[in-house]
Amino acid sequence: MNSYNFCESCGMLIKSGRYCEFCAPNGQLLPLSKIIERMVKAVVKKQGISEDVALQRVIAHLRKMPAWKDFIEKLEKETT
Ligand SMILES: [Zn+2]
Repeated sequence: MNSYNFCESCGMLIKSGRYCEFCAPNGQLLPLSKIIERMVKAVVKKQGISEDVALQRVIAHLRKMPAWKDFIEKLEKETT
């Protein structure tokens, strides 16, 4: 039996629930912009890459996540 879950928003390993403490600090999922902002900062810090490159990587990651997949697809349809 698997006792771990993955955050549906960022993919982080969590013990229970649907979202990690960063994506849903009060049990309420933060807006996508906040999630992106936090993840970009983390990636820049960790990998030492520019914010533009980090943003592209974060979006590429988030668009696979159950919490954002449809949302991002819709956004991209509207902007193209
Ligand atoms: Zn998360």
